[in-house]
Amino acid sequence: MNAPAHASLDDKERVFDRIIPDKFRPIIDRNACLNCKRCVKECSFGALEWKDDRVVYKGGCVACQRCSAMCPARCIEIATVPSGLPPHASYTERVRQGINAQASSGGVLLCSCGTDMPYGMIFDDLILDAAQVTNPSIDPLREQVETRTYVGRRSSRVMLSGDGYVTESDGSGPVVAMDMPIMFGHISLGAVSYNCQRSLFQAAKDLNILAGSGEGGLHADFLQFADHINGEVASGRFGVTPEYLRRTAAVEIKVGQGAKPGHGGHLPGEKVSDLISQTRMIPLGTDALSPYPHHDIYSIEDLQQLIAALKESVEYRVPVGVKIAAVHNVAAIASGVVRAGADFITIDGFRGGTGSTPRVIRDHAGLPIEVATAVVDKRLNEEGLRNRVTVCAGGSIRSAADMIKVIALGADVAMVCTSALIAMGCQVCQSCHRGLCAWGIATQRPELTSRLDPEIGARRVTRLFHAWNEELKEVMGAMGIDAVESLVGNRDRLRYFGPNQKIAEVMGVKHVGEGWG
Ligand code: SF4
Ligand code: SF4
Repeated sequence: MNAPAHASLDDKERVFDRIIPDKFRPIIDRNACLNCKRCVKECSFGALEWKDDRVVYKGGCVACQRCSAMCPARCIEIATVPSGLPPHASYTERVRQGINAQASSGGVLLCSCGTDMPYGMIFDDLILDAAQVTNPSIDPLREQVETRTYVGRRSSRVMLSGDGYVTESDGSGPVVAMDMPIMFGHISLGAVSYNCQRSLFQAAKDLNILAGSGEGGLHADFLQFADHINGEVASGRFGVTPEYLRRTAAVEIKVGQGAKPGHGGHLPGEKVSDLISQTRMIPLGTDALSPYPHHDIYSIEDLQQLIAALKESVEYRVPVGVKIAAVHNVAAIASGVVRAGADFITIDGFRGGTGSTPRVIRDHAGLPIEVATAVVDKRLNEEGLRNRVTVCAGGSIRSAADMIKVIALGADVAMVCTSALIAMGCQVCQSCHRGLCAWGIATQRPELTSRLDPEIGARRVTRLFHAWNEELKEVMGAMGIDAVESLVGNRDRLRYFGPNQKIAEVMGVKHVGEGWG
């Protein structure tokens, strides 16, 4: 229907909103529906309403699956709706949707989670080795297969006493011992809810691993988990107090994030609730802006000074690390970071998740973590620096297989985020930046945060990563490797089975069919 001639420009322009239809739509089986209105209550995105004695779809479904999961009659199915747009290989639906959204808003497109662009997953092109005949495998149920992992500065040389104890080491620093080569990345309070962060910290304690605090500081209730928290020092310095530095098990300077390399952070004022304001030490309801760079770091020498200052602040009690986004020059930057004195370095690949970022950066900047890990490990080895530092790598570690592959490519520790959130209910709907998460994860609204029970969250996350560690032992056993340290950077136990041999060469991985040696 055409807008009447006297209609306002806004009214007339509304027709453009109808060009690109919703991608998802709830389909309700009317015969089975109990008319209980539960789905309307559960849909935090306001996509459903009660009208004319029935549930009707209003629009704006993000396929978060909450209504479907909570419907007592299980009578809702979320369908992917074909757009009906004329197909075009260059001007894809995604491209046209972006153009229309910007023509309407005039602003930067925001999004969340890791990129959903169809870049190939290099992990899926890597095949693991297994032991046969000349290098016997190990049964992890009968023999020890060690997954204990240390985060911190390593010795380049150790002296052992006659009975095998370390008597002297050279150049080592404080280390954190974890039961498995996994750490949770920095998921800050503000980006996620109190109950989500509590679940992660409890799980880190139960698994005896580290969890990142994120850049939002540490809520007083979480000091009880400080022995398992890697405290972030980001460019905004939110919540960085003497107690924070004194209590956490490790400290990490955030230079970059895989989902938004070169970018800062922005927590909108509406998300800065009482709880967030106290924890971040900022006024209630004001935007929390993290500058793009640290205003005191413009060179490796500046970074060296901040590392030294933090080591002094923590009285050399805990390791101090640096997190960087994977970018084209990542190997050289990593080398500088190690020379600047970092005890551990975290590399965040371009598929890494976020609570909010400009879509243009998330989708088009950075480097895949598989390549970044391999080139960093190679460069640090060539320069005789690798043994000084723990390398952590993340940004789309989806499974135990990815974890094993990233370790074989050169990481000591796999950093995980999204997989942990999925264990708590996240459906990767990419709507975190809206603060309406129906699963109580990426929201500060009390009526939504209460949907996530931190005990259940912690239990599910703990089970997930316990299972990954068991799978790691299974694979190491099958490879005949009895300690995870022997898998680190062991690219000879990988083969490339993908379309682009150049990628294999850059990573230093042989093609399938090529033997050892
Ligand atoms: S609850 Fe989620 S899946 Fe259901 S209608 Fe709302 S947005 Fe769509
Ligand atoms: S955390 Fe919530 S809003 Fe974010 S992707 Fe997952 S389900 Fe969606």
